[in-house]
Amino acid sequence: MMPVICHLPDMRPVTHSIAVLGGGISGLTCALRLAQEGRCVTLIEGSGQLGGLGTFFEHDGRTFEKFYHCMLPSDGPLLRVLEALGIRDDVYWKPTTFAYAHQGRFFPLNTALDLLKFAPLRFIDRIRVGITGLYGRLASDKGLDDITTVKWLTKLSGTRAFAKFWRPMLEAKFGDRHHDVPALWFWTRFNREKGESKGERKGYIKGGYKHITDTFARVLHANGGTIRLKTTVQQMDIDDEGRVAITTAAGVEKFDQVVVTLPTPQVEKLIGPALRREMPALDTTTDYQGVINCLLFLKKPLTPHYWVATPEGEHPFDGVVETSTLTDTADRGSRHVVYLTKYLHRDDVRFAASDDCIRAGWIPALKNLFPQLQDDDIEASFVFRAPFVEPIYRLGQMKLRPPEELVADKVYLANTAQVYPVVTSWNGSVTQAERTLAVMGLHDTGCQPVPTGSRTAELKLTKPRLAAQPLRPASAKV
Ligand SMILES: Cc1cc2nc3c(=O)[nH]c(=O)nc-3n(C[C@H](O)[C@H](O)[C@H](O)COP(=O)(O)OP(=O)(O)OC[C@H]3O[C@@H](n4cnc5c(N)ncnc54)[C@H](O)[C@@H]3O)c2cc1C
Repeated sequence: MMPVICHLPDMRPVTHSIAVLGGGISGLTCALRLAQEGRCVTLIEGSGQLGGLGTFFEHDGRTFEKFYHCMLPSDGPLLRVLEALGIRDDVYWKPTTFAYAHQGRFFPLNTALDLLKFAPLRFIDRIRVGITGLYGRLASDKGLDDITTVKWLTKLSGTRAFAKFWRPMLEAKFGDRHHDVPALWFWTRFNREKGESKGERKGYIKGGYKHITDTFARVLHANGGTIRLKTTVQQMDIDDEGRVAITTAAGVEKFDQVVVTLPTPQVEKLIGPALRREMPALDTTTDYQGVINCLLFLKKPLTPHYWVATPEGEHPFDGVVETSTLTDTADRGSRHVVYLTKYLHRDDVRFAASDDCIRAGWIPALKNLFPQLQDDDIEASFVFRAPFVEPIYRLGQMKLRPPEELVADKVYLANTAQVYPVVTSWNGSVTQAERTLAVMGLHDTGCQPVPTGSRTAELKLTKPRLAAQPLRPASAKV
């Protein structure tokens, strides 16, 4: 194939070409910033849609995320990107609540009083869990990467409260690999979840996450970028001239640089022999947990809570996420939207179970939990799986994160294995993308208006800045 030559919107030719592999939020953020800097960017995505794990499907004239997604007020870097895209005002916010299911009852866990009334724990253990939350938000994160969450929480909450309350939720997320997860992961997570002084609020965007990816695509095109969908990368290598050769079904294409945003196990599969000799092994990074989501459209609501944790063994799923407690009817119609969610390793036999098998186990279990739910109330149900979602963190994870630059001035990485200790999220991926871009020399981007182009092309993306987080009681959700 010929070398890539593209043109900026003012028709100046650019010959320095960059491929961005993966069209999730990491790839979109990198591709847009690079294009805005005048680089010749080709974004290559294997599936037919942009958005990665935040991708969508169509139902009855609207789009819905395959996996529940929301924003938090503390998602500063992501919100600044939305601002730069001109769509920040489309984000709306609502108070949301959390509850814990235990023996057929739902225990709200949003305030100190809720915790004092939390019957599944003995009174003394409720106090210790409360102190854990208080300590967690006051304590520094120093040294927490080298202590396990198990040890840290057991010390703070006591053996009994840990076993009854924290362990089921840790196991729900990481299965039998929860033992090694550093306390820093937990600390970051519950400080993010309660970043507000007035109670928990979550955000969603008008038109759903598709609105974000559509806008990215439009602005990327306006800045001269190219997007290739349904183009799975089969191999990535270095050729004799030192260029990066990307192999797809269409052939081999050469680029000066590449930014890879795929999850690490998928990156590993692509590395050709010459590249393998030049780059560090990525095997010190984590394996990933996958997720199964069963999405139900209901004719009536189940609970007032955004999230009901169901980590106890009797439930086949770990949580009931009723996103319609957050989303406007304009975005979902009159239906109520519930995701049943289960974190699993992709090797787990349940991950390979058929959709009907998942439905056959999960929907009756949901009806046990909510006896008022009848078959007639279910408008439709869908099952979605994602094999690479949450890196399985190990002790000392900060030192295990792969570097941003894999081969000097040539191959860069911006993926979920590097996001730690920031929570795995769109905000975390934007934060990581900004780190990788900084290593590529794109430092001072600011939020500067640029004179040309459409309304959405008017702003450049912002410099990363972690949002200050006001102190609040710690969330029970892990
Ligand atoms: C159930 C669930 C709930 C979540 N809830 C939230 C939430 O509420 N809020 C939030 O902010 N985040 C949430 N997340 C997390 C968030 O979706 C991810 O952290 C984020 O999307 C990761 O983005 P990424 O671009 O780094 O990776 P990905 O989204 O994984 O993107 C990688 C892309 O690479 C593509 N790709 C893979 N292999 C190839 C190949 N060989 N060639 C070409 N392309 C390839 C994939 O198709 C994909 O599009 C949730 C995730 C899940 C699964």
